Amino acid sequence: MTINQSGWKPTAPADRGDAAGATFTGNKALMLEEPLIFEIGDDQTTGVDFAAGDVAGSRLGGLSRKDPIGLPGLSEPETVRHYTRLSRQNYAIDLGLFPLGSCTMKHNPRLNEKMARLPGFADVHPLQPIDTVQGALAVIHQLAHWLVTLTGMHSVAMSPKAGAHGELCGILAIKAALAKRGEGHRKVILVPESAHGTNPATAAFAGFSVEDIPATAEGRVDTAALTARLGPDVAGVMITNPNTCGLFERDLKAISDAVHAAGGYVYCDGANFNAIVGRVRPGDLGVDAMHINLHKTFSTPHGGGGPGSGPVVFSEALTPFAPLPFVERDGDQFRLVEEENAEEHHADSFGRMVAFHGQMGMFTRALTYILSHGADGLRQVAEDAVLNANYVLRRLEDTLDAPFAGSGPCMHEAIFSDRGLAPGFSTIDIAKALIDEGYHPMTMYFPLVVHGAMLVEPTETESKAALDQFIGALRSVAERAKAGDAALKTAPHFAPRARLDETLAARKPVLVWKPTAAEAQAAE
Ligand SMILES: *Cc1c(COP(=O)(O)O)cnc(C)c1O
Repeated sequence: MTINQSGWKPTAPADRGDAAGATFTGNKALMLEEPLIFEIGDDQTTGVDFAAGDVAGSRLGGLSRKDPIGLPGLSEPETVRHYTRLSRQNYAIDLGLFPLGSCTMKHNPRLNEKMARLPGFADVHPLQPIDTVQGALAVIHQLAHWLVTLTGMHSVAMSPKAGAHGELCGILAIKAALAKRGEGHRKVILVPESAHGTNPATAAFAGFSVEDIPATAEGRVDTAALTARLGPDVAGVMITNPNTCGLFERDLKAISDAVHAAGGYVYCDGANFNAIVGRVRPGDLGVDAMHINLHKTFSTPHGGGGPGSGPVVFSEALTPFAPLPFVERDGDQFRLVEEENAEEHHADSFGRMVAFHGQMGMFTRALTYILSHGADGLRQVAEDAVLNANYVLRRLEDTLDAPFAGSGPCMHEAIFSDRGLAPGFSTIDIAKALIDEGYHPMTMYFPLVVHGAMLVEPTETESKAALDQFIGALRSVAERAKAGDAALKTAPHFAPRARLDETLAARKPVLVWKPTAAEAQAAE
């Protein structure tokens, strides 16, 4: 048995008590085993008794269902326990550090939640008469004002529902602007290798052809290659800034000037705005359209915790093509502009992206976050996020290969590669072992320009103590991967489920539960 620098010593699987069924219940101390609701409940055990209907006859004309509907049934306490147990098998931002890079999984302040739950915001309906929702419209209008101010842009479309949806919004505005100029033949969108994967997908979806622009060895856009490709067939570029290598694209202003001179538009993927909010205004860098992920930079919940929201800010040039609806102030009243009107400035709007006005709950949370931080607080968010990421980078670069460590300080995320791991070991082994350490893994194998990439974004709200513990865990696991510890290949050992065949799960997902033959027979 070897003991390495970090003090970690390998344990034999038998020492871990992790064999399936080691306990009668399958529970492991406080980690409770939980079957599917269909396996434990049936309609005979539901806690609800339905009174016999008093309707005279069926009006379904013989179309009523004859077979059992197959719904599970549980009493209220059983239902509560079922979902509580499942929730405990999940990792959450309220449990621990969430190192996912490119995702900005940050703390959701409780004040935001309190404000979003005020009945005047939580209970409004999008079809209510306008004079009964003036407060909600005021929130949208004020948030729009701050988003425009923080980005130094000209206008904002609030309705897009997430980052990728915002990209589509921006690209459709560019398409409409080109059509108006009679330059619909510009069909090429240039996308640097360091862009987020949604960028080329959006351009292709909107009917453009995508051409890659290489990255330089230091992880930034190859500006010379980009400007050399500009021409009369190029509609524009999509640049992620800060980019997915965690670096600031310093040449963005020069790139914008060149793109504009060649007749194109500049789309900036602003999902990483967390790193520069309060420090850089994209409008000053010549950006024409940029989405902002409220569910990243402005702390509204993410994933299972809430819907996304991806407002898009526009330059003056693209503003006439922005989608409807938007809120306008008319004296002390707010109105919702929902239809194109040739008399008004939005006659060239490309149309509408969603049925209603956007994610009201997210707007309320984001505005609460902005107002409670103030300008100095938001600037400090960016500074602390960048400081934390650089701390992770510098503390781990002696253990893990950090390909861009020489390119200067990183922005909000630190990137490592799988170089130097023992033969046969790769990034996934490190990620799976991190689960045993009690962490959600970092982003893996992205960006593609780095081999076996590990992208870590600590965000600004983690304390030094929390970062030190994460760094210790990642260092320990990385040392095991470099030493070739075989136990790593089958990690996680302590999670409710061991290592899954993720390829099989992705290619042949089992989406419907079917009873076993014995269960089906028992039900008859
Ligand atoms: C998250 C992210 C997106 C996509 O945003 P969604 O809200 O998930 O659609 C796009 N670009 C970058 C750089 C991102 O980090």
